[in-house]
Amino acid sequence: MEPPPATPASGMNAVRTVAALRAALAPQRRRGRRIGLVPTMGALHAGHLALITRARAECDMVVVSLFVNPAQFNERADLDRYPREERRDRRLAAAAGADVLFAPSVDEVYPPGFATCVEVLGLTERLEGAARGSAHFRGVTTVVAKLLCMTLPHVAYFGQKDAQQLVVLRRLVADLNLPVRVEACPTVREADGVAMSSRNALLSPRERAQARALPAGLQAAREQVALGERASAELVGAAHEAMRELGVEPEYVALVDPDTLEPLEKLVREGLMLLAARIGEVRLIDNALLIATASRVAPPTRPTTKRARKVTS
Ligand code: AMP
Repeated sequence: MEPPPATPASGMNAVRTVAALRAALAPQRRRGRRIGLVPTMGALHAGHLALITRARAECDMVVVSLFVNPAQFNERADLDRYPREERRDRRLAAAAGADVLFAPSVDEVYPPGFATCVEVLGLTERLEGAARGSAHFRGVTTVVAKLLCMTLPHVAYFGQKDAQQLVVLRRLVADLNLPVRVEACPTVREADGVAMSSRNALLSPRERAQARALPAGLQAAREQVALGERASAELVGAAHEAMRELGVEPEYVALVDPDTLEPLEKLVREGLMLLAARIGEVRLIDNALLIATASRVAPPTRPTTKRARKVTS
């Protein structure tokens, strides 16, 4: 007998095992239904919900995974304090249109004797990889490869917020010929521009105010692009300066090729600006695509700042 279809969203229960997940999906798969997967570490916010809403619009069956993956945390304290709110997550995921919440235990994902990892070389060695160590992305790619094998979705949804992760996961899917389409969703931000993140909840009110330095850095670079600046060093410098003005010293600011993550010396068509900063105990990241349009903004008639003078001369 076929197991019943996924429980209605309002009464969604968490599925804990791979066997139960496969049993829930098998009848849907047999009927040719399109399955979407949204991998998360929980503490859901509007960024996660946008991915679920998108999956709901495009798929017949939406699986949200909730797994705080110990393998990708390079700091024990970060793992220990990572917010865990499964009941709330279940309710929010259901309301956004999830059919199944897959919330396995650490033992279900990494049973005794587990000895395999999946590693993407090169792309993972810079930026976040350099800052957090090679184990971070190895943890991400291993768990995402496992979640894809466990769920076998037609489409998997990831956020542009973790831009390097997205590039790495696209590489993983292409290199392993995994039969899944990767879809990216834009970064969802708070009203003041700060990218939504589960870690924002760990910031004190003062630190939360300082977190504005990250979008401010990106905005400063964008403004320089609009004024005609194309040199990477200048754009990175503008972001640094804007962040420091808000009392935040960036861990890194980089302008890279959006596909290869290779550093750019100059913005020719488009470049991905990535930055990271530690605010108190919490490490935050953000990014923006900088686009060099052909037409420059008309220079101010009386330039008042050093930078404005420089780029308009
Ligand atoms: P996490 O729970 O932080 O591992 O994130 C799960 C997924 O949600 C990843 O694909 C993230 O890139 C995505 N995500 C996290 N924050 C945001 C955001 N502010 N906007 C859009 N997607 C996000």
